[in-house]
Amino acid sequence: MTEIFERETILKEDARLVKNITPKSEDFSRWYIEIIRKAELSDYAPMKGMMVIRPYGYTIWENLQQRLDRRIKDTGHVNAYFPLFIPESFLQKEAEHVEGFAPEVAWVTRGGREELEERLAVRPTSEAIIGHMYARWIKSYRDLPVLINQWANIVRWEKTTRPFLRTTEFLWQEGHTAHATEAEAREETLKILDLYKDFSEQDMAVPVISGIKTGREKFAGAEETYCIEGLMADGRALQMGTSHFLGQHFSEVFNIRFEDRDQQLRYAWQTSWGASTRLVGALIMAHGDDSGLRLPPRVAPIQVVIVPISMGDWKTTVLPVARKLAQELKAAGLRVHLDDREEFTPGWKFSEWEMRGVPLRLEVGPRDIKQKQAIVVRRDSRKKIPIPLEAAASRLPGLLDEIQSALFDSALKFREDNTHEVTNYTDFQDILENRRGFIKTFWCGDAACEDKIKAETMATIRVVFPPLSSDEKRGRCILCGKESDRQVLFARAY
Ligand SMILES: [Zn+2]
Repeated sequence: MTEIFERETILKEDARLVKNITPKSEDFSRWYIEIIRKAELSDYAPMKGMMVIRPYGYTIWENLQQRLDRRIKDTGHVNAYFPLFIPESFLQKEAEHVEGFAPEVAWVTRGGREELEERLAVRPTSEAIIGHMYARWIKSYRDLPVLINQWANIVRWEKTTRPFLRTTEFLWQEGHTAHATEAEAREETLKILDLYKDFSEQDMAVPVISGIKTGREKFAGAEETYCIEGLMADGRALQMGTSHFLGQHFSEVFNIRFEDRDQQLRYAWQTSWGASTRLVGALIMAHGDDSGLRLPPRVAPIQVVIVPISMGDWKTTVLPVARKLAQELKAAGLRVHLDDREEFTPGWKFSEWEMRGVPLRLEVGPRDIKQKQAIVVRRDSRKKIPIPLEAAASRLPGLLDEIQSALFDSALKFREDNTHEVTNYTDFQDILENRRGFIKTFWCGDAACEDKIKAETMATIRVVFPPLSSDEKRGRCILCGKESDRQVLFARAY
């Protein structure tokens, strides 16, 4: 069998294997679940709503985590760790906070054989325990600002769950800062919002829209909540990170007071902000296609997979060349995997790594070696490029950068094609029913309109844009028609 023929049969086999995944246009939810299972990102735990993050999925999370952690530290924050359990009385101090989280809290009532005197909440978020500690640590303006982040697990007893997007236990980071002035705390809130936006767009290649939440959608206990929202490939929005301006709500109830420069006692101003394992879900849904994952190179566990074409005496001819190539690429700082398994055909390997979203595949066969080249196949465009073996280490980093931007560009184009400016409610309903996507329109600011729209269309206000300048054209509330300068983004969301 000639190698050309071998490559053709491989392609046919490739197509056949790939067909085992439900096309995303046919059933997006099923496609999502199948990708997660086949790519071995996570598995269902025996307890309802809980997931096991498998090594491939966890490596994606670690890569996201490392890159986000670097950004958090570069902006002056440090990491610390607070307890998993929070006394009930702490949670109850901030009325809106306890009200918001009560339906989702898991409680510990016994320790060993003894009933606890006071129930302990398994943290649904850590404002309360951190507020308590900050009251002990912050005494003077010299102690401010406090800029602490924690990487932790969180438990919220969710009724409906979906892997990575909403699970009873999840992993996240939560930043908690305290400042001497309102202006500083507001600046911090927006600085983190920008940090999340940059992280999402540059590291995850997912374009996002940032803005403020409505009173209905804000974090329980915050004065203002800002967020970044991505548009997933099924036209639904995903909130990918939130940054809260807490005002003095928590410092008043936890008594976080400091002596200011003028010897006056003042309450500290606070922020909190978080992003979670839900980001893995965003990567799947923003970039995946009918053949599986397409991972952005910056966070992909494997950036380049080398598949030796196993023909004839390939172990003595092809394999040594493939090994040497793997070493050179590793030395160039790339995350490389050499798939030298004997029990699988090259075609099987091609479709497996394609399904698992590896950005670049390098095929090396006997004929390639004679020509001192390898064939590079891009996961994003499937384009095949012959590349001289000796140039691989210098050429591939540039190709990975190209894939990173191509994924961003295609997600951005998708968002632009699926963002609709709408001025009447019939069109609004029609788009949500038949086309989905983001709807840019006006809202009067009345929660009654917001509630009615949600009840009738399942769409929520994802963000409120900054008020229009006086020379911009004002609009009318999409529901009641009242004149408004409040432009908003609606969508059905995860
Ligand atoms: Zn209205």
